[in-house]
Formats: sequence, structure tokens, C-alpha cells
Amino acid sequence: MSEADRRIVVLNTGSSSLKFAAYPLRPEAPPLLSGAVDGIGGQAHLKITGKTPRDSAITAADPHAAMQVLADLSDGPLSGDIAAFGHRVVHGGPDLDRSVLVDDAILAQIEAISPLAPLHNPPALDVLKGLRKRFPGIPHVACFDTAFHRGHPAVADRFAIPDALYQEGVRRYGFHGLSYQYIAGAMKTQAPEIAAGKVVVGHLGSGASMCALVNGHSIDSSMGFTALDGLPMGTRSGSLDSGVILWLQQQKGWPVDRVEKFLYHDCGLKGLSGLSNDIRDLLASDAPLAKLAVEYFVYHTARTAGALAVSMGGIDGLVFTAGIGEHSAPIRARVLDRLRWLGFALDNAANEQGTGRITAASSRLTAFVIPTYEERVIARETLALLPADRP
Ligand code: ADP
Repeated sequence: MSEADRRIVVLNTGSSSLKFAAYPLRPEAPPLLSGAVDGIGGQAHLKITGKTPRDSAITAADPHAAMQVLADLSDGPLSGDIAAFGHRVVHGGPDLDRSVLVDDAILAQIEAISPLAPLHNPPALDVLKGLRKRFPGIPHVACFDTAFHRGHPAVADRFAIPDALYQEGVRRYGFHGLSYQYIAGAMKTQAPEIAAGKVVVGHLGSGASMCALVNGHSIDSSMGFTALDGLPMGTRSGSLDSGVILWLQQQKGWPVDRVEKFLYHDCGLKGLSGLSNDIRDLLASDAPLAKLAVEYFVYHTARTAGALAVSMGGIDGLVFTAGIGEHSAPIRARVLDRLRWLGFALDNAANEQGTGRITAASSRLTAFVIPTYEERVIARETLALLPADRP
């Protein structure tokens, strides 16, 4: 097979989805194909875009089973001459502070950290292990969402709890790091003078967080020990007084697995509105609790941007990214309206268009919409770590 056919396969494994892309071994080349299996565990659906597109229902009880289906396709992401696999791993714990080539010791380290990301690390590990078995000898690179944040100063990395627990790993890790790494790079190209300064990035998807970037480096994030912290999300509450959890256990007698399900699946926009975890449904609804849920999301996004400006000692720009950040003009407008006093003046037409700069030329501060591209970061990191004897 020719060099041009060799590929890096990027896998982003969630609890109910498996996203993938295959890239040629050239930096920044467009993917050969990409797609996802969604609805894993229920009505699973495979979609591939590329030379041989596919759109079909499949049977997959878990992400590992979805991986097996992909491996059996003759023209899917796991066909052809694979030079390496790149994996998104949500949690790298205290020590995995950069992307790494996976060996048995790294696998054991990721496994030990898994209880910190119970929804995300275990399925990613299952897929990684399954692929190692099915494609022996092909290298794997693990890229961690926490790694980008490992340089936070102690005041942002700690909770006010005894040092012994910090040493055991109870830290404010921060997540969505692959997304922030992509945005930091894109800002350098699109607006170098602002990228060299102080920028807040809002990764507003069904999971949502914000990050403070100083000269492209993360110095603080709204997410902490787990991906439950910070902003309200589709089904996660975001920051919640820990006393509420004690109350649920002590007064309502909820066992811990019920509390866990509640915190991950029944709160956030869905819990508060009682209607939907999708902000589009809430924006379209006249129900008072739907309106409140939207306003709660906007309020806490703006409030967090203000807090991160304090972390940085100022702010030069704000970037919106991920599902809501990239696609919801009304949410961006409402967040920036709450930040108008800080110096953001919206350009309505640019905001409706939703790409690049969305503040007016006269605005003291600048806001942008930049689509995130985590798979691209994983492909870059994987290419950079390919062993020299496997070009
Ligand atoms: P994740 O990768 O965390 O699953 P995404 O970044 O894909 O999430 O964001 C998914 C969310 O983005 C959806 O739940 C939906 O609320 C929101 N979203 C997607 N498209 C739009 C849109 N056109 N307008 C408003 N919100 C949108």
C-alpha cells in the first residue's frame, strides 16, 4: 500500500457515542472520512461521510461493540493501512500532563484514574484495549482533556481542603482541554494580538465549561475535580453547594448511585426546565421554567466569564465554541448583553452569521465564534508522537 493510503485513526469515545475520523499522515490534511455511532445502548446509528458514505442503523450494546462493527467494515475508519490510533481520554489525573504513547503501564495509570471520570474513561479504555487486541503492533496515543490545564497556579488547582487529599489527587483538573488547545491555536492565527493577551473561551455544548487563556496557556477553568463542576449543562447541574448532596443523602435517604445518576443525568437545563436538555427546545418554549433555565444558563455563563477575567487580571477577548456556542446566536447575544458593561458591543448581523468576529468595530473588547475541532488536535498529537521507525 502506498504512503498516501496510510492513516491515523482518531477515536472519541463517549458513554453512548463513538466519534471517529481517519486522517492521512500529513499535518492539517482534511480527513479521509469521519463519522459517528450515536445512540449506543439503544437505537444505535452509524453515519460515515467521505468517499463511501454510509447512514444506517446498527446493533451496538456498548462502545466496544460499536468498535467491533466498525472493524468489520471493509471501507470504514478501521480499514486500510493504519499507522496509529489517537484516542481522546477525558481524565489524565494529576500526572498525565501531555499526550502519551500507550503501553501497559500507561493503561494501568488510566485505569486507576477511571473512577474520576466514570462516564467517560471506562468506555474509552474498553475501546482502546479492544483495538490493541484486534490490531496488534499498531501504536496508540492517548490525549487527555485534563492535560491542557495542568499548569494552573495552586489557587486554581486546589480546593480549600487538607493537603493530604490534594496529594491523593483531589484537585481542580479542568476539562475540554483538547477543545481549548484547538481554540488557542486558531486564535493565534485569526487574531494574534488578542491571542497574546487574556481570552476567555466558552465551550458551550451539552457539557459546558469555560477557560481562561493567557497568551494561549490555560490558567483557570470553571470545571474542577470532575466534569460536574462549573456551568449548568444539558443534564448536569454545574456548581452545587456540597450541602445539597449531604441533604439528599441524610434527609431523603438517597443511596450514592441514585445521587450519581441524579447529578449526571437529571439536573442542568433538563432538571430545571422539566422539559428538555436541548437549549433549542427551551428557547422555543413559553413555559416559565424553560425561560428560567435559559436565563440561568446565560447568567452563569456571563458570571463565569467575569470571574475568569478576574483570574487573568483583565480580559481582551471572548470566544464561543461547541454546539451552543457555535450555533445559538440568541444565547451569544444574551451572554454578551450581560457583559456589555465590560466593553463588549455586539454586531447583530455578524452574530447572526456566526463565524469569526461578532462584536462591532467600535467595541472595546472582541468576541469571536470559532468552531472547535478536537479530532484535529488528537491527529496532530498522534502524528507528533509516532515512533521514528513508523513514519
Ligand atoms: P457534546 O460534544 O458535549 O455532546 P456539542 O458540542 O455537540 O455537545 O453540543 C450539543 C448541544 O449543542 C446540544 O445539546 C444542543 O443543545 C446544542 N446545539 C446544537 N445545535 C444548536 C443550534 N443550532 N442552536 C442551539 N443549540 C444548538
